[in-house]
Amino acid sequence: MPDDVLEIAGVSARPGEVVRGRLWVGSYPDGSEVRVPFVLARGLGARAGAGGRRTLLVVAGLHGPEVPGVEVVRRLLTDGLDRTRLAGDLVLVPVANPWGFHRQEMVTPQDAQNLNRVFPGDPEGTTSQRLAHRLFDAFVRPASALVDLHANPEPALEFTIYPIPPDRGLARRARALAEAYGITSVGLPVRAAGPGYLFQAAAALGIPGLAVELVAWRRIVPEAVESALVGIRNVLRALDMYPGRCEPQTVPRIEARGLRRRVVTVAKGGLLHPFRRPGEPVARGETIAVVRDAFGDVVEEVQSPVDGFLLAWPWVVSQALVSGEIAAFVAYAEPEEEDGG
Ligand SMILES: [Zn+2]
Repeated sequence: MPDDVLEIAGVSARPGEVVRGRLWVGSYPDGSEVRVPFVLARGLGARAGAGGRRTLLVVAGLHGPEVPGVEVVRRLLTDGLDRTRLAGDLVLVPVANPWGFHRQEMVTPQDAQNLNRVFPGDPEGTTSQRLAHRLFDAFVRPASALVDLHANPEPALEFTIYPIPPDRGLARRARALAEAYGITSVGLPVRAAGPGYLFQAAAALGIPGLAVELVAWRRIVPEAVESALVGIRNVLRALDMYPGRCEPQTVPRIEARGLRRRVVTVAKGGLLHPFRRPGEPVARGETIAVVRDAFGDVVEEVQSPVDGFLLAWPWVVSQALVSGEIAAFVAYAEPEEEDGG
């Protein structure tokens, strides 16, 4: 059978096999090679639905400090999934950005670019653009769908982000994956063409996907890993690749549909004192935090720009912020077209 062998980045696997590989993406000045580790994990289960074999791509580590996704990949290969019942294939990429992972930096240190803003990349571009191109060509093109694992600094609610591309049918498929995953989800309108997010560039090829913002970055939180395993099994079910009914999620969620995310920044530096916890409702104009200077005086009141919910206080460096830095993510509901067909 022609589809009996899955070949990706020079590595091949037969049904039931788990095979490791490393994709060359560049080298250091001393000639040390930089390779992205990946695993092909092929199922043995029979698909219930019609159509060809399906491949779910699970990517982690596009951003260096976001380590929980690496653990999620390990668990998917051990006790997180029954591969004898998996109908189709998994392509797992635990550390997609070795440049950033080596230094534990959010942006790629060599060019200060955010890898998740340059997809589908450029084979003749900067370090990040070349890496994006290699990842996209090797792993995204053969995929039927993708899950891109990220992590937010705490305190934060876990949530998924699904792209809303101009292709409405594809937007519906991406939203369906987010709903199957089962935690709070926010939609992100994206242009048809990049450069941009991984799931945006995948959508341009007709491949639905979602990003997951786990908690927390720089460390593994067991509850977040369990939630991710439930979510990915549910995504596999939505893709008709795994048996059983969708499992209930294990983390708190905001039930509202059609959520969008708004970023709240501060004008003045200082220490941020929040008044709301992730998941709690907020009102437009409500003071959700204050900024205090070194003497303890309030120098700024931070107001919610929307009626909605507090999603996260994603303090990347610390709770001491500088002008222009992100203080919070808030979510607000926007009516979505529920068109069928
Ligand atoms: Zn990230």
